[in-house]
Amino acid sequence: MLTAPTRFFTEDHEIFREQVRNFVTKEVHPHIDQWEEEALFPKSLYRRMGELGFLGIRHPVEYGGSAGDIWMTLVFCEELCRCRALGLPTSVLVHTDMSSTHIARNGTSEQKEHYLRPMITGEAVCAIGVTEPSGGSDVASIRTTAVKDGDSYVINGSKIFITNSVHADVFCVAAKTDKDAQARGISMFLVERDTPGFSLAKKLDKMGCHSSDTGELVFEDVRVPRHNLLGQEGKGFYYIMQNFQDERLIAASMAVSAAQQALEDTLTYTRERETFGKRIFDHQVVSHRLADMATELEAARQLTYYAADVLASGRDCSTEVSMAKLYGCNVANKVAYECVQLHGGYGYMKEFAVERFYRDIRQTTIAGGSAEIMKEIIVKRGLDRDL
Ligand SMILES: Cc1cc2nc3c(=O)[nH]c(=O)nc-3n(C[C@H](O)[C@H](O)[C@H](O)COP(=O)(O)OP(=O)(O)OC[C@H]3O[C@@H](n4cnc5c(N)ncnc54)[C@H](O)[C@@H]3O)c2cc1C
Repeated sequence: MLTAPTRFFTEDHEIFREQVRNFVTKEVHPHIDQWEEEALFPKSLYRRMGELGFLGIRHPVEYGGSAGDIWMTLVFCEELCRCRALGLPTSVLVHTDMSSTHIARNGTSEQKEHYLRPMITGEAVCAIGVTEPSGGSDVASIRTTAVKDGDSYVINGSKIFITNSVHADVFCVAAKTDKDAQARGISMFLVERDTPGFSLAKKLDKMGCHSSDTGELVFEDVRVPRHNLLGQEGKGFYYIMQNFQDERLIAASMAVSAAQQALEDTLTYTRERETFGKRIFDHQVVSHRLADMATELEAARQLTYYAADVLASGRDCSTEVSMAKLYGCNVANKVAYECVQLHGGYGYMKEFAVERFYRDIRQTTIAGGSAEIMKEIIVKRGLDRDL
């Protein structure tokens, strides 16, 4: 079916697409049900993806990356999200494009050598810790503190809903170096898992995305050397907002791609099953609903590509990226509802992939900036200005 060839993808992108597709077919599909059941996939999969060159797509060549473009990342994301589960892609994409990106962008050459290189080979896994039990949308109000003490910073506080909590070796952590300041008081730190005082308080049980390890972290007098500060002190909020553009674009792409798979599964089902002497697909009300879904999904995909194009140009892309995440995730949730409905009772059964999709897709309008926050950004950055 139609999946939008565009001017953005070259032959190199399509060759890479084939490689990722092969990997998903041969090395993910056969195991994904088991990993979902066990609520974790093996950490060795990162090594395998490192060997295949999947973990450093846009990272610098001097640290083992491929210095590719955003379209390579989107190809990777689109194909990975075809695995009929969003848990594994969430973990992997948090590692590649939502956390290690902080090191690639703002790390010193020593930090890149020490931390980024093994992340690209898959020997080390990365996580990003911003959200706290007191709130995630209002990033400037985080309460975790980092107090300078001699040649160290001492971190106290907690983080919640952190992806890769079980597998991660290194956490990029946001903390207040000036607790009386709001956004300007935030700095980013690299915290290694085995640092005394740092612990995984709990692996959280979720509605969906089971193969992704989400947890709650506690910091009790966690002493990190001064050279584990990422970038400049007080610039953390800016770095987080900058990183959010990648994160949200990828979230939009993940939602659209997973929804595309669910739509295709539903097309297959409605063309096979018969009621009242004809295929369900041949009831016009059904085919029209499928046409609506295909149309809205295509619009969401093209908006995502447009936002990626703005991001690639280096211009401020926050409005376009927020629109892509808002629209893409809303459409994907709508598609999930319809796909379950068109499967009838089978859509409610675990043996059908749309059941998992329905649960997995729900978090996309919440995580990494909720739909409401996307609207706030569109209003403030895009609409409330002189025309
Ligand atoms: C599966 C999953 C994985 C995640 N992974 C990570 C991770 O790796 N690292 C990390 O740091 N965080 C992670 N998060 C956290 C996620 O980013 C937050 O859940 C999100 O930012 C929302 O924060 P909150 O849950 O505290 O909700 P709140 O901020 O408490 O918001 C609750 C509700 O109020 C609405 N709301 C808040 N403010 C406004 C406003 N101004 N106007 C209108 N409505 C508003 C929100 O939209 C939401 O609907 C993850 C979350 C999930 C579900």
